[in-house]
Amino acid sequence: MLNKTQAPLTLTKEEMQQYGYKIVDLLASHFENLNSEKLVGLSDRKQMDKLLKQPVPNEPSSPDKVLNEVIKNVLSNVDYLAHPKFYSFVPSPSNYISAMADAIASGFNVFSGNWSTSPAAAELEIVVINWLLEMFNFPIVEGGGILTSGGSMANLTALTTARRIKLKNDYSKAIIYLSDQTHSSNIKAIRVLGFKKHQVRIIPTDMEFKLSLNKLKNAIAKDKLEGYQPFCIIATAGTTNTGTVDPLEEIAAICKKENLWMHVDGAFGGAAILSDKGKSYLKGIEKADSLTVDPHKWFFQPYEIGCLLVKNHKWLSKTFSENPVYLRDIEGNESEINFYDHGIQLTRGFRALKFFMSIKTFGLNAFKDAIQSGIQLTENVEEILRESPKWEVVSPATLAIINFRYNPITHNLSEEKLDALNQYISKRVIASRSAVLVTTILLDQVVLRMCLINPRTTLDDIKDTLTMCEQFADEYFEKNKYENN
Ligand SMILES: *Cc1c(COP(=O)(O)O)cnc(C)c1O
Repeated sequence: MLNKTQAPLTLTKEEMQQYGYKIVDLLASHFENLNSEKLVGLSDRKQMDKLLKQPVPNEPSSPDKVLNEVIKNVLSNVDYLAHPKFYSFVPSPSNYISAMADAIASGFNVFSGNWSTSPAAAELEIVVINWLLEMFNFPIVEGGGILTSGGSMANLTALTTARRIKLKNDYSKAIIYLSDQTHSSNIKAIRVLGFKKHQVRIIPTDMEFKLSLNKLKNAIAKDKLEGYQPFCIIATAGTTNTGTVDPLEEIAAICKKENLWMHVDGAFGGAAILSDKGKSYLKGIEKADSLTVDPHKWFFQPYEIGCLLVKNHKWLSKTFSENPVYLRDIEGNESEINFYDHGIQLTRGFRALKFFMSIKTFGLNAFKDAIQSGIQLTENVEEILRESPKWEVVSPATLAIINFRYNPITHNLSEEKLDALNQYISKRVIASRSAVLVTTILLDQVVLRMCLINPRTTLDDIKDTLTMCEQFADEYFEKNKYENN
């Protein structure tokens, strides 16, 4: 291997095949054995340094040796977000077809910045964006969009566009409204764009964690009186904490009346549009000016792929076209989209391929079923929790997210004790390395949160985990039995 007569950085055909087969075998057994694998890496920096820190190697090593080091030391120290018992954050169930599509995109190293370099890549991006526009009932001809690295970049791209289209160059008086449940990536985007802190209004949510309309209206009225320029509302379609959808129809009406840009962050919940239940939750989403969806969440794609959809594709080109001289020979005609003119990146990977290949291979109905089953499973979990005298549902099953806590009616625990108990349960579950169940804070309470979008997760998986939690709760009581409750 790596003999001297070859060009640098190349392998013979046979070597490439042998190496590739090994990796395919590795991935196939990963997907095959997901359920039985330890799903969480818990090592600290010191342990990782010891295992992996090394000087840059000047001389070659055998490819197998390097691969084995990666299998042994790297892949055993990362979380498996497609594992059926990974309940936390927004897991990423992923799929094998898309993983292979990524290998093709990377192997051919397809440049997806402009039309003339890779017309079919640009066309496929147009195709999948049209699929998404149709799913969300956005206008197909006028509407547009772009694939991004994820939801954060889609939100940044959206807010950059909103600022450009609504405010042109002066945004010193502009005000943006969002809720206390809005995803942090929006705040980051606002900061990146140079808005000052006093230009952001964080509107409290109501008891259902929805943006409060009255408080929103009052804030807008007050800002107008004070000479500010209300400009944009960020609504969320599926908050990360509770899956809650803000009142989109009513927010759209306010945006219309006040001439505000309506951005909807559907990074988590948007995909639920494919299911009947999700569709009813998401009513009004089609009224957004811009919409973030995140295929690497509930569309089962591997990282990285996010997406921004807009009502009018010209908004993107008006915001992002630069036409530098060194690109003048490849501009093409208007219908031939150069995606570098629709977003921030120039050089872009071929993200559309995995979305295209996986949807075409499995069929959209399989995605619908997978989404529907996650929503249903979460409702079944809610039923189990409600029937038990030990568990309390804090936020009901909504778009496959549920929040609950261990609160046995027999114990009558103080809020402080309940927080400590539920924190303890989460810590012990993670330390067991057989499930990932972390806490969040709702209404000042420490609660356990499950996001059940993984079609591999079964009700039995969850029952197992709940039983485990109950054992850890007993252990907690045993440890603390000399303290009174
Ligand atoms: C995950 C998430 C994001 C951020 O998306 P990334 O793909 O992680 O960058 C933004 N908004 C919401 C509501 C999310 O759930």
